[in-house]
Amino acid sequence: MCGIVGIVDSGGVSLPIYYALYALQHRGQESAGITTYDAGKIHKHKAQGLLSEVFDQEILKKLTGRTGIGHIRYPTTGENRPENTQPLNFTLKGHYFSIVHNGNLVNNDVLVADYEEHGHIFATTTDSEVIAAIIARELTLSGSMEDAVVLCMRILQGSYSVIAMLDDTIYAFRDPLGIKPLTLGRTEHGYMVASESVAMDTLGATFMRDVKPGELIKIDEHGISCRQIMKANHTALCLFEYIYFARSDSVIDGVLVYDVRRRIGEQLQREAPVDAEMISPVPDSGMSIAVGYSEASGIPFKEGLIKNRYIGRTFIMPTQTLRENAVRMKLNPIRGHIQDKSVVLIDDSIVRGTTSRRIIDLMREFGAREVHFRVGSPPIRAPCYLGVDLPTRQELIAHNREHDDICSAIAADSLHYVSLEALIAATGHRPEDLCYGCLSGCYPVSIPGEHAACRHIDFVHGSYQTELQF
Ligand code: AMP
Repeated sequence: MCGIVGIVDSGGVSLPIYYALYALQHRGQESAGITTYDAGKIHKHKAQGLLSEVFDQEILKKLTGRTGIGHIRYPTTGENRPENTQPLNFTLKGHYFSIVHNGNLVNNDVLVADYEEHGHIFATTTDSEVIAAIIARELTLSGSMEDAVVLCMRILQGSYSVIAMLDDTIYAFRDPLGIKPLTLGRTEHGYMVASESVAMDTLGATFMRDVKPGELIKIDEHGISCRQIMKANHTALCLFEYIYFARSDSVIDGVLVYDVRRRIGEQLQREAPVDAEMISPVPDSGMSIAVGYSEASGIPFKEGLIKNRYIGRTFIMPTQTLRENAVRMKLNPIRGHIQDKSVVLIDDSIVRGTTSRRIIDLMREFGAREVHFRVGSPPIRAPCYLGVDLPTRQELIAHNREHDDICSAIAADSLHYVSLEALIAATGHRPEDLCYGCLSGCYPVSIPGEHAACRHIDFVHGSYQTELQF
């Protein structure tokens, strides 16, 4: 869970990167950073905090140059430490090399141990540094960034959408399973890559397409070239991007997230109709799902809860007590809408169950007669090792709990989770092209301590190359 951006544009890049990161702020709120390259020098700034806390006009003015990369971080590997903020910046034989990464490597410990064995030292605890180490070693040996990415794709296991900047050139690549999103677009005088298409909309840039799983895109002042480095017999896009993580107005792997969520709502209504008086979302994540449920049922969509938009996501709170109080600070029921009403309340997911319980209690406190909870994902029963911040099995409310127990734990009048079949159908992707390890406990890559990878993957090296000039 992170947001990444890379832009080459002759009009300058610091402001466009800043705006693009703004559009991706939902992907991480812990830290932000930008590095630009300008005529043999790099300019960099990064710190912990929201983008608006980390950057101001003066700082952005100093980040001159036509090439740059940016990152916003939500930590999954590596603690919340200042040195883990990205971009990570290095010098290499007189060149500047910077890197940003969205994803999570599952063989990080093995790779780090191997590199340390050969005398390499690491300055951070984030898995992104090992990607930099692999690229640096290969660049030193062969001098070819393409060879370095081939090596990455051979030895990295896990999810990685990466943007690397070597002096004035940007290299972007996505792991062969395409677990995390990455999109490509055209700016006024150049090209850009970003985690989600909304970053392009914000800049008035043109969304071109998704970076393909296993593809390497090179952008420099002459234009763009694309090379398929590796191809797998299936992909494994994170299903949670569609359920919760991405913005509804993003298009991921050709599918508008809003449409997926609306279709989930329609399916939820077909699977578990309720004779209620209103359909209310838990804002914001339940919004488009509730629209679908309301359209399918003919029951009015009415907001029963209003969100204070200035409170961050509740998961940022490190302790259970803080998380519980945060719900009341964040969401306030509209008494006039819900009093004496039977309400279908719709959220995208239940993780620990804390939020759902607190919200349902609040709805009753403000007069709701019945609260029927409908959820846009199946029960989350297993952790994520590939980049979504989900807790251990023990903390997950659906782990080893029957449906009725969960319903009473959150104190709902009724509860229904959308079926996995309906959820997958709503995405329009083949089941084998999605990762839903958190729902099934079955992951597309081998995870230490979990069952062996559930699917067989064949990798082949790709060969075609396309070029586009500025
Ligand atoms: P809870 O069941 O109290 O743990 O929280 C569930 C709520 O957290 C749902 O409303 C989701 O929108 C939201 N949520 C789901 N997954 C995540 C995540 N990985 N990080 C932050 N929030 C999440």
